[in-house]
Amino acid sequence: MEEKLIQKIQRSDRPFLVAGPCSAESAEQMEMVARDIALNTHAQVLRAGIWKPRTRPDSFEGVGQIGLPWLVEAAKNNGLLSTTEVANAKHVELILKAGVDIAWIGARTTVNPFAVQEIADALKGSGIPVMVKNPINPDLNLWIGAFERLEKAGLTDLAGIHRGFSVYNNPRYRNQPNWEIPIALKEERPDLPIICDPSHISGKRENLLPIAQKAMDLNFEGLIIETHPNPEKAWSDARQQVTPTALREMLSQLTLRRELI
Ligand code: PEP
Ligand code: MN
Repeated sequence: MEEKLIQKIQRSDRPFLVAGPCSAESAEQMEMVARDIALNTHAQVLRAGIWKPRTRPDSFEGVGQIGLPWLVEAAKNNGLLSTTEVANAKHVELILKAGVDIAWIGARTTVNPFAVQEIADALKGSGIPVMVKNPINPDLNLWIGAFERLEKAGLTDLAGIHRGFSVYNNPRYRNQPNWEIPIALKEERPDLPIICDPSHISGKRENLLPIAQKAMDLNFEGLIIETHPNPEKAWSDARQQVTPTALREMLSQLTLRRELI
């Protein structure tokens, strides 16, 4: 990518939008969702989990490397960039080989400096943009530390993803937003764009809009929203995913205060 992801985000007159399923399930699912996302929204990036870090075993843990070409091809065929989660050096090697455009580090990985360091070392020299989710626990320094590890490895095309923080039994949120933490990140690192992940904060598709609106009101640079052709039948995170047309409808209800650059 000639232009930095960061520059692209900051130059854009619309929020940077990442859409796509929680998990890649088949080549057909990826192609269908990519086509409908491209038709219905201004999304620039297609997401899909290939390796899923499930909190408990015996749930779907991702299709694995077989899904990488599904993601990459579906994105290319529909004029989108591709992104997936990496959690170790092997994942990094495989996504670089497959031509994934952007890597992301998940919330369960950002908590672990050894894992982040391993990923940073494996990414060294690739120049690939990396989005870093906040750690599952509300620790700003762990989040900042992950950016610093990547920067020390020469990766400078970085963005944060605010996906909320683990709480025990909060019926309102799957992951509590603790907005003060991404706000503090913006204060400490104004150079880093932040996009919001209302899907993992809310846990329920009907509650996405107010969270997305709050992020826009706080001048976050974008959104990442789980989008599936048939959300009720999704193999992971079925309660929080929306169809591409529902995403379009939700985006149309957002009031954007971001000034054009
Ligand atoms: C995801 O994006 O599907 C995911 C597993 O996210 P998180 O790391 O935020 O839980
Ligand atoms: Mn998910």
